[in-house]
Amino acid sequence: MEPILFKMACASGAQSRMSCEYVSHVQDKDGVTVTVKDRLTDKNFTVSAKYLVGADGGNSLVAEHASLPFEGKMGVGGSMNILFRADLSKYVAHRPSVLYWVMQPGADVGGIGMGLVRMVRPWNEWLIVWGYDINQPAPTVDAAMATQVARQLVGDPKLEIDLISANTWTVNNMYATSMQKDRVFIMGDAAHRHPPSNGLGSNTSIQDSFNLAWKLAAVLKGHAGPKLLDSYTQERGPIAKQIVTRANQSIAEFGPIFEALGMDGGVDHEKIRHNMDARCDATPAAEKQREALRKAIEFKKYEFDCHGVEMNQRYASVAIASESSKPPGDGIDMELHYVPTTWPGARLPHVWVFGKDGKPRSTLDITGKGHFTLLTGIGGEAWADAAKMIGKKLGMDIKVRVIGPRRDYEDHAGDWASAREVHDSGCILVRPDHHVAWRAMKASADAESELSTALLNILGH
Ligand SMILES: Cc1cc2nc3c(=O)[nH]c(=O)nc-3n(C[C@H](O)[C@H](O)[C@H](O)COP(=O)(O)OP(=O)(O)OC[C@H]3O[C@@H](n4cnc5c(N)ncnc54)[C@H](O)[C@@H]3O)c2cc1C
Repeated sequence: MEPILFKMACASGAQSRMSCEYVSHVQDKDGVTVTVKDRLTDKNFTVSAKYLVGADGGNSLVAEHASLPFEGKMGVGGSMNILFRADLSKYVAHRPSVLYWVMQPGADVGGIGMGLVRMVRPWNEWLIVWGYDINQPAPTVDAAMATQVARQLVGDPKLEIDLISANTWTVNNMYATSMQKDRVFIMGDAAHRHPPSNGLGSNTSIQDSFNLAWKLAAVLKGHAGPKLLDSYTQERGPIAKQIVTRANQSIAEFGPIFEALGMDGGVDHEKIRHNMDARCDATPAAEKQREALRKAIEFKKYEFDCHGVEMNQRYASVAIASESSKPPGDGIDMELHYVPTTWPGARLPHVWVFGKDGKPRSTLDITGKGHFTLLTGIGGEAWADAAKMIGKKLGMDIKVRVIGPRRDYEDHAGDWASAREVHDSGCILVRPDHHVAWRAMKASADAESELSTALLNILGH
C-alpha cells in the first residue's frame, strides 16, 4: 500500500475540476482507510493506504478530522481578487514593475490595508487585491463592483475593464502545532494559514512535501524506521509558526506608512487626501513627514528583501545529528540575511563546482534527487568507502561526490572550500531534501562505524 495524497496540482483552489474528493478517514495501527467521493457518479468508495497526507488547503478537512491542534485565528481580514483585462500602458509602461501598491483614502479598511495592482501580462492583464471589512459578509464581486474598484485604484473614473474572474478570501493567522497524527500528515496551507505577504506560501508548502516525501519513501522501502516520521513535525512545525507570524507581522508593518501618509483608517476621505498631500509642502512638518515615510518604506525590507526567513531554516530533530557548537549567524539579523552553513540541520549552501566535462554544477544539483549524498575531498577516501559499504548493507544507494583537484568535481575558485566548514578530509552527509544531516570535520580512523552510527540514528533504526 502506498501513501495517498489528497491534493489537486494547481494552486487556484480548482476543486470543481476534481473527479474525487476526500470525505473522511479512519486509521488503525496498520493503515488508514479513506472514504472518497467520486464526483462524477456521486458515489463514495474507500481506499486503504499505509499513510494519508492532507494537502487540502487552508480549510483542510483532513486536519479537522485528524483533530490536529492549531494556534491562532482564521479570518482576521477580508480580501478580494479581481482578475481583469485593461490596457494600462499609459500609467505604467514608463515605470515598469510587477506589483504596484496603491494608497488611496479608504483603502486601509480591512484586507491588506491598501490596493495592490499586480501585473499578470504587460500591460493589459491585471490582478487587483483589495480589502473588505471582515466584520461584514463577504461582498459579491460582480463586474460593476470590480470596475468601481479598478477605477478608484487606477485613478481613472472612465476606465473600462474586461472582468475575467473575481473571488474573496480571508487573511488568516493560524498554524498547526502538530502536523502528524499517527499515520496522517498535513502539509502546505492545511498546516499554515497566512496572508501572501513575503511570498511564503507556495515555497513553504513545497518545502513541507520535500521534507516528508523522502521520509515516507524511506520508511515504505524499509530503509528507515517509523521514528523518522516524527521528525516531520519537529522540523516543519517551527517553520509553520515562523512564517505565519512573519507574514502577519508584515501586514502590521504597513502601519507606519499609513501613519506617515496620514491615512487614519477614517471615512473622511478629503481629510486623508489633505494629509497625504501635506508631505509635498516646503515646511519643517512636511520634511518630517517625508522622512517618516522614507523610514517606514525602508523598514518594509522585512517583507520585500528578507532572504533569511526562508534560507536560514535550520532543523533540529531526530533526523539531524546536531552539534553542540553554536550555529553560525551570531550578531546577524537572521530574518534579513542568509547565512550559508553546513551546520547540521541547515540547508546545504549552493556553490558552483565543475564536473569532468568542465561544466559548472551546483552543489544542490549533485545532491538530493531521492538519495543521501556524502560530500568529501582529498584525504576523505575512507568516508567515501564507508558510505558505499553502509549503503550496500542498508540496500540504499548513497551517492558519493569527491570535490578537489582531479577528482569528481573541481573547486577552481575555492568557493566550496570557503563554504564547507570542514577540512578536505572531512565529510558532509546531505539528506535527499538538501539539508545537512551530519558532518565530520576531518578524517577518522573508524569512518565506517562513525558514519554508520550517525546514519542509523538519522534513519530511526
Ligand atoms: C492572493 C494570494 C496571493 C498569493 N501569492 C503568493 C506568492 O506570491 N507566493 C507564494 O509562495 N504564495 C502565494 N500565495 C499562497 C499560495 O497560493 C498558497 O500558499 C499555496 O497555494 C498553498 O498550496 P497548497 O497546495 O497547500 O494548498 P492549495 O493551493 O489551496 O491546494 C489545495 C487543494 O486541495 C483541494 N482540496 C480541498 N479540499 C479537498 C478535498 N476534500 N478533497 C480533495 N481535494 C481537496 C483544493 O481543491 C486545492 O486544489 C498566495 C495566496 C493568495 C490567496
